[in-house]
Amino acid sequence: MNKFELLGLNDALLQAIKDMGFESPSEVQEKAIPILLQEDTDMVALAQTGTGKTAAFGFPLIQKIDVNNRKTQGLILSPTRELCLQITNELKNYSKYFKGLNTVAIYGGASITDQASQIKKGAQIIVATPGRMQDMVNRKLVDISAIEYCILDEADEMLNMGFYEDITEILSHTPREKSTWLFSATMPKEVSTIAKKFMRTPIEITVGTKNMGTSNVSHEYFVVNARDRYAALKRLADANPDIFSVIFCRTKRDTQKVAEQLIEDGYNAAALHGDLSQNQRDLVMKSFRGRQIQMLVATDVAARGIDVDDITHVINYQLPDEIETYTHRSGRTGRAGKSGVSMVIVSKSEARKIKGIERIIGQSFERKEIPDGREICEVQLFHLANEISKTEINHEIDKYLPSIAELFEGLTKEELLKKFFSVEFTRFFNYYNNAQDLNAKGSTEVYEDEGDSTRFFINVGAKDDFDWMSLKDFLKATLDLGRDDVNRVEVKDSFSFFNVDSSKAEEVIRIFQDFKHNGRHINVEITKKSAGKERSGGRKGGGFKGKDKGSQSFDKSSKGADKGRRRSSGSPSGGKRRSSDSGTGGREGKKSGGRSSSIESSIKRRRSKK
Ligand code: ADP
Ligand code: MG
Repeated sequence: MNKFELLGLNDALLQAIKDMGFESPSEVQEKAIPILLQEDTDMVALAQTGTGKTAAFGFPLIQKIDVNNRKTQGLILSPTRELCLQITNELKNYSKYFKGLNTVAIYGGASITDQASQIKKGAQIIVATPGRMQDMVNRKLVDISAIEYCILDEADEMLNMGFYEDITEILSHTPREKSTWLFSATMPKEVSTIAKKFMRTPIEITVGTKNMGTSNVSHEYFVVNARDRYAALKRLADANPDIFSVIFCRTKRDTQKVAEQLIEDGYNAAALHGDLSQNQRDLVMKSFRGRQIQMLVATDVAARGIDVDDITHVINYQLPDEIETYTHRSGRTGRAGKSGVSMVIVSKSEARKIKGIERIIGQSFERKEIPDGREICEVQLFHLANEISKTEINHEIDKYLPSIAELFEGLTKEELLKKFFSVEFTRFFNYYNNAQDLNAKGSTEVYEDEGDSTRFFINVGAKDDFDWMSLKDFLKATLDLGRDDVNRVEVKDSFSFFNVDSSKAEEVIRIFQDFKHNGRHINVEITKKSAGKERSGGRKGGGFKGKDKGSQSFDKSSKGADKGRRRSSGSPSGGKRRSSDSGTGGREGKKSGGRSSSIESSIKRRRSKK
């Protein structure tokens, strides 16, 4: 008997589950589904991101809905538009064999009338972001007075984003007699407060320790000019000779293109996307599992089911359209207790998205530099030395040895080693000699200052009966800002701090000039540090490791860029820098690097044969 069947799910769901290719329930599903199916109870379920919480509440919810009744019976609140759409899609997949079951998504930034008319046609399940939901409740465009199930998904995130009041307000329009299910990755104080306030003796389920799986994965990002994306990818691969990776692109076309380029450049790569036949996909996956392929270039959809352990790197060649997808991508590595790295290649304009992802994954990124030629040559050299030292001697060679030895008579061991390693080293050296610095110039400033937030001091705090939630609500209301615009609210005893997007900083100062709260004069000031600069890891990984021990040519190529990046420290670089910035020599790729890339190809090919 199928494991899902054992949980008590009916045929229509089992068929859909089969179609989706889920083989067995995840732990949170195994624990939550039977209880939710059998009892009308409140529940608090804690499980890390990517553990299948959507189905844990989605399956029982769908099974319990009365499809013959067109009234709204289930309401799911979720923090963001992306999540809201994702949950809606998932639920539609789950319920495809339930004729007459309608699930409608409600979220900000889209036409409210369209959403209202969809609701009017009958929506047994509504998936909503709190802001838009409250809006629609107030305008009487939805009726949630008879719902039987209310689900707070990603509750920690919703509270983080300052939705406490909206949630309270929305819940006040729902009947007392209902089941409330709260799903969350973490259980901060605010979540338990909500559980206490809105739930009656909820059954608690905890899966694993919080964020256990994701902490195996470290997250890194690299800022490059958009045109250098591919060259950057190659450098990352070359700097990690044992890479076994999935590379994510946004479209099938890019997936195919990047894979083809990699193959042409001699890497063991292949594409995996929906335009391939099932047979082709199976073949690709077989080679990947068998390690004949080191770099699998894939679309999100095609990579969904990849359950290969030991993947060392996930590379986001492009960020996904919906940042929640990032979790699924990075979850391909760091499996089975192993550690993994998830790398993101971004252009300057995309660098800001990193923050949004940090919020979703609850982990911070480390900003790193695309390795320069010197680093890669070093890595490759030591990799080779290591390989050689591990190699078992093949005694078939013995009989040829006298004639070979004759050739090297008179060489010291050191000279011999130098000669031997030069064979390989020179290939990489020639290829990467004069290689350009691929790290986007000035990007640090862009990430930290442009569009970044400004931190403010305000002279109210816990003494004035504020906590972070109420202060955030107060600021949102006073400044007439959206919920995403005020963050990092930190309440001290008699004062507090908060962040607002730098573009709105002047406005904040203006509004609080001559502002009184409960008869008290409010003082708001910009603090010196901006949020970006306080971030841990934000600036790590900078600088050039081998800068001063290098050969002439490497110094030449990296120096200009180095100065460029550090010009604020007063280096008198001027015109020289520009000439290196404009990049005459050494760009990787077919045009200028034709010869070297074919040499490199042979290196890679040879490596793959072992
Ligand atoms: P969470 O909400 O816990 O972060 P999701 O519900 O978004 O996780 O699920 C993560 C991914 O795992 C989704 O792509 C989902 O389709 C998939 N998934 C969920 N349950 C299973 C299962 N039992 N087997 C295989 N994949 C699953
Ligand atoms: Mg979820």
